[in-house]
Amino acid sequence: MKKDIKSLSLAELESDLEKLGVKSFRAKQIYQWLHQKQVTSFDQMTNLSKELREQCKQIYELPILEAVEIKTSAIDGTQKYLFQLADGNVIESVLMKYKHGNSVCISSQVGCRMGCRFCASTLDGLERGLKPSEMLEQIYRISQISKERVSHVVIMGTGEPMDNYDSVLKFLSLLTDQDGLLISQRNITLSTCGLVPEIRKLAQEHLQITLALSLHAPNNTIRERLMPVANRYSIEEVLEVCWYYFQETGRRISFEYSLVQGVNDRKEHAAELAKRLRGRNCHVNLIPVNPIKERDFRQTRQAEVLEFKKVLEKNGINVTIRREMGRDIQGACGQLRKGYQERQQSTKEGEE
Ligand code: SAH
Repeated sequence: MKKDIKSLSLAELESDLEKLGVKSFRAKQIYQWLHQKQVTSFDQMTNLSKELREQCKQIYELPILEAVEIKTSAIDGTQKYLFQLADGNVIESVLMKYKHGNSVCISSQVGCRMGCRFCASTLDGLERGLKPSEMLEQIYRISQISKERVSHVVIMGTGEPMDNYDSVLKFLSLLTDQDGLLISQRNITLSTCGLVPEIRKLAQEHLQITLALSLHAPNNTIRERLMPVANRYSIEEVLEVCWYYFQETGRRISFEYSLVQGVNDRKEHAAELAKRLRGRNCHVNLIPVNPIKERDFRQTRQAEVLEFKKVLEKNGINVTIRREMGRDIQGACGQLRKGYQERQQSTKEGEE
């Protein structure tokens, strides 16, 4: 089986090629073609000899994602990409344009097994984790297709990054590498539903990335109702490991809280949450839940979102309300992919 060249570090590529008698500066040239110029074939590596290019083709595969659908929001220019992987699976990624730069939201798995009740990505379970190259490719292809410079990356698309730990860590090291795209660690956010042992491990890597923790509840009872993972780790354990992450990295924790009407959006809930977070170096991002057709969760009304925010602020907690991006293009996690799969399915059935 051929090796996935885009998932290799420069050191790994150098030692691989050294065995073939290739000098290390050549390895570096190849690496830069892959990660800086983001070429799609070995033949585009024009400063290499034809012989070396042929050798590379023999031992390596160069996985490229194919954009099968691109939707652009008429409201804010947000773009949603549906990519096909080499094995035929499809994943989605989003390009968001902000004043401070362009941000790409990537998927870390095909599907997800975490089972959060409000999330469309998890409805069909987990297919597999993405390889480092497949995570990088989402960014490279978007940057090539849109001709935009990408300065920020958020791992907030489909999948649970801490359930694909090793690949995600490799991806992070390639993404921030000085011979690669060189995205600053501080411009990367990793969102997790709260796998405690993996967060602990991540803290010990001492990276400067932002940890976004999907909390969504002020207590265990409500959290268990929304997120099956809450049966595995209590809210106390989850918060404890977040404070540990802050202690180890100095990075302020960002809590995501999707407001679901009548479930977690009362003033009492805000007060209970405030009590847990008070005095900590953190930030709360309130997200009116994005309804999916498979579940009957409703969005909290704007006035109540503001009430909720006020309670937290009175307790000295930083709060923002997430601006909804790309509402007109199925911006919520997993919706575009799910819609695509359903369309494929109905076409197939129509043919049968
Ligand atoms: N598995 C990771 C990252 C992917 S989800 C995690 O759980 O954090 C990214 C964020 O979107 C999470 O906070 C998730 O809970 C939230 N989310 C998923 N579906 C949503 C929906 N329909 N409405 C609002 N937020 C949603």
